[in-house]
Amino acid sequence: MTPTLTRYTREQSRRDLAIRMIGHEVRTYLIRRCTGLSEDRIRKLYNVYFRQDGCPVTRHRGKTPRQPEYFTRNLTAQLEATTFIRVCLAAGIIRFNEQDRITLALPASSAEYGQKFCDAYEAYMVLHNPPGLSFERAWNLIDALCRGHVVGMTNCRRCEVSFLRDTLDANDVVCPACCLGSLQ
Ligand SMILES: [Zn+2]
Repeated sequence: MTPTLTRYTREQSRRDLAIRMIGHEVRTYLIRRCTGLSEDRIRKLYNVYFRQDGCPVTRHRGKTPRQPEYFTRNLTAQLEATTFIRVCLAAGIIRFNEQDRITLALPASSAEYGQKFCDAYEAYMVLHNPPGLSFERAWNLIDALCRGHVVGMTNCRRCEVSFLRDTLDANDVVCPACCLGSLQ
């Protein structure tokens, strides 16, 4: 491929990624981080592709909600967050390191991460419809998990499958699937 064509292809894929992220109602600063596009360029893309009457896509402003406790607030939320983490592991976005801790498999500010994250989020949306996690909540979940902040992966004492757990919770280590099963 000629250098011009390579640049064109790269530009095109960044633009496509921005459009995809706008469709998931992602805040501009996050789209900028992944695509490197300017705020003005992102606003124009939004106006061209999404600003029509009856278009359900909205632009969120201000800060993204960031409370790791949100993901373990009840069994259903915990199960859904665990599913999303599994999808991300399968998609190669994150991996377990030698210390058995979750780490990013590629830089979070890259277009490749953005694309793979969109793939993972869209796969999760097929499994959980309507999704309990917004795109940005899902993004923050992976961020909190990699920082080991309040949440972490542990193996269930009963079924031995790994699940998302509140690391400050001193209760018995049983996964949400086993807990929900024993409630029935
Ligand atoms: Zn279990």
